[in-house]
Amino acid sequence: MSVFLDKEYYNLLSDDSKFALEQSILIAEKLGINIYLIGGIVRDFIMNNKIKDIDVAVQGDVVLFAKELVEQTNCEIINIQDKLRTAKVKFESGVEIDFASTRKEIYLSSGILPQACDFGCDLIDDVRRRDFTINTLALKLTGSDKFLLIDYFNGYQDIVNKKIRILHEKSFVDDPSRIIRAIKFKIRFNFDIEENTYVQMQQYLNNVDKKMPLERIKSELRQLFSIDNYNTYNEIIKSNAYKLISDNPIREINIDRINEILSYDLYDKSEFWFILICCLIINSDFAYSRLNMTAFERKVLFETKELLSVHEISINDNEKIYKLFNNKIDLSIALYYIISGEKSVIKFLNVLKQIKVLITGKDLIELGFIPSAYFNELFDKILKEKLRGKLKTKEEEKKFIQKFLKK
Ligand code: ATP
Repeated sequence: MSVFLDKEYYNLLSDDSKFALEQSILIAEKLGINIYLIGGIVRDFIMNNKIKDIDVAVQGDVVLFAKELVEQTNCEIINIQDKLRTAKVKFESGVEIDFASTRKEIYLSSGILPQACDFGCDLIDDVRRRDFTINTLALKLTGSDKFLLIDYFNGYQDIVNKKIRILHEKSFVDDPSRIIRAIKFKIRFNFDIEENTYVQMQQYLNNVDKKMPLERIKSELRQLFSIDNYNTYNEIIKSNAYKLISDNPIREINIDRINEILSYDLYDKSEFWFILICCLIINSDFAYSRLNMTAFERKVLFETKELLSVHEISINDNEKIYKLFNNKIDLSIALYYIISGEKSVIKFLNVLKQIKVLITGKDLIELGFIPSAYFNELFDKILKEKLRGKLKTKEEEKKFIQKFLKK
């Protein structure tokens, strides 16, 4: 039985988006090719979710299609990938649509981007390359059967039953980042991972390929950890998905410590995902080199490991606390606190971090000191006194330092 999606679904789109699609439909019909809304957008129509991205599958050559669109309407191509036959087009209203030629994908090796081929293929072959049944739905935009819902894998029923289901048994072997995507959809939509899908997932996780590239996994984890950082972390541990990048994750992160450290405004909140990735990998060596970390990310991880290797920090030893944390990246300090719960961090942030030597080199010269590397020693002496709670004012610092001039 053919199911036509009610026009009211289409009304979840803004007028500008609808107009952009109508313009696209006219061009497709002129070229005699079919186009379809596909993937997340159709899923979100059915679930009555807010629409984020508009993805359109073009059963033909997207480059030709996009060029015709530009010629006939007031839109511009903002990104075109000749090799993958995708084009991002911005319409006059500002609406952006991602167009992609239908294609097949062949996986040659686990975790490595698949080879794309057979551009302009039948829709079913394009749909076969997708991750879960809920993302396989297509809505036909052209022809006499406009708004026909095309559902080759029973995705509609899985949406209704709230199930995340892979399309074939090798799905996670082909692309292990789908494990993180499954967890993302589970949490975002409050769906269940269907039984056999869960079994396949565990089978893969018991036999992770420790050499595969981790870029996609890192990028999916980044997205996942920006939904809701506490539940997602627990889910990554509970589902064993951590095994994709770590042998020995920190199993429980303390929500009170996270909230406490957040209140210090130590770093941009958008960096929080990285703290969670670090909690997964900090005690494990296997993923470091393959996670494609930036120099900054590597430094945070290195500094935190260094801090964690320090034994016993007496809460009263201000000098040691200061030396330990001063000049460390704020994100490293936050990560260290979340992992260790070390109270000296709080003392550093509340009190010691604010302590600064007030006199300058110029002041020392005025006092009669000859400029030299010895200045650093002098500043250090003052700092030590200040960390002991002495020398509150600049005058007191000057008076203290004069002793060393006489000698
Ligand atoms: P979101 O709402 O997070 O954007 P989405 O389903 O649109 O969800 P995207 O990551 O934008 O997700 O991907 C677009 C489509 O591409 C998906 O609907 C899915 O069909 C397909 N896709 C994305 N990643 C994979 C993957 N790793 N394997 C197979 N198909 C994928």
